[in-house]
Amino acid sequence: PKEKEPPKIRRLAESVVNRIAAGEVIQRPVSAVKELVENSLDAGSSSINVVVKDGGLKLIQVSDDGHGIRYEDLPILCERHTTSKLSTFEDLQSIKSMGFRGEALASMTYVGHVTVTTITKGQLHGYRASYKDGVLEHEPKACAAVKGTQIMVGTRKLWFAIKLVENLFYNMAARRKTLQNSADDYPKIVDLLSRFAIHHTHVSFSCRKHGAARADVHSVGVPSRIDAIRSVYGVSVAQNLMNIEASDDDPSSSIFKMDGLISNFNFVAKKITMVLFINDRLVEWTALKRSLEVVYSATLPKASKPFIYMSITLPAEHVDVNVHPTKREVSILNQEIIIEKIQSVVETKLRNSNDTRTFQEQT
Ligand code: ADP
Ligand code: MG
Repeated sequence: PKEKEPPKIRRLAESVVNRIAAGEVIQRPVSAVKELVENSLDAGSSSINVVVKDGGLKLIQVSDDGHGIRYEDLPILCERHTTSKLSTFEDLQSIKSMGFRGEALASMTYVGHVTVTTITKGQLHGYRASYKDGVLEHEPKACAAVKGTQIMVGTRKLWFAIKLVENLFYNMAARRKTLQNSADDYPKIVDLLSRFAIHHTHVSFSCRKHGAARADVHSVGVPSRIDAIRSVYGVSVAQNLMNIEASDDDPSSSIFKMDGLISNFNFVAKKITMVLFINDRLVEWTALKRSLEVVYSATLPKASKPFIYMSITLPAEHVDVNVHPTKREVSILNQEIIIEKIQSVVETKLRNSNDTRTFQEQT
């Protein structure tokens, strides 16, 4: 074959760089909702309300009653890499907040129009500011506000901008295709809010379609997790759950603690639901999920699509949340040991409950 000339290397325009980055953080409307809700949680909110129009393509609105945003910070709020949560690289090791990268709001402004209304404690009025491509469009305007922050991400330009970048640089046909009917993101958004609602039981969440009278997720901030699960996932889930707990065998070198609720032999579903929080962060841990599926199919074949809620705590330095821009997958130190331990605790629990049932049925 004929030898090719090396192609010339050029520097990408900053606007292109920012859009590519935006596409990584905000992959779909549901990722925008996740970032906004996590910001509300980071702001110490006790009530978080989400409104969505057209599956998030037309409008995403998240309102909270958290600490609000200072007036002086509004000019840089939506610039890339501006954050109140991280200052040194070392802070990353012990970060407790959901966010830390200062990229979410910026990303949203590259793909849509962001309007922020916020008020801080002790102020008589709030401010409204709007942003595009990372910058404040004009001076924030004084406005009436109750408590906390409301962020609106509007317009369909949003997802088309991302698509454009993909067309130019990647060949992600699958993602382009799924984005074309993003209207189906609403169920994903409901699912996301349901998960948050059963973990953060002290926070009340709601999620509704724009203009709808009824909320599709509505939790009232009750202390009991079972009650939260009942109000979000329904009675049939709540009445078939068992408590589960696990920790290291050697408490002196305590690496991890898990507590949760798992479904019993009565619970039949079409697919597995695994709600997992590690250090209060909603994450996916595919290896753990698979290993628990295996235990269920082996122990309770008829109830092999379980509902599982687990909250795991680990020393912050054992969890790397920085492996992906969406912070969805995490990387965990000693993951095999932890999975094995959880697997064995679940197996024992299922066997015991199954034996009790068999015994009850015989007597
Ligand atoms: P990060 O969460 O990684 O810091 P974001 O782009 O999501 O970055 O948010 C930037 C900053 O804006 C946050 O660090 C926080 O100070 C502020 N902020 C965003 N949303 C809210 C909110 N709902 N309430 C209070 N402050 C907020
Ligand atoms: Mg954030």
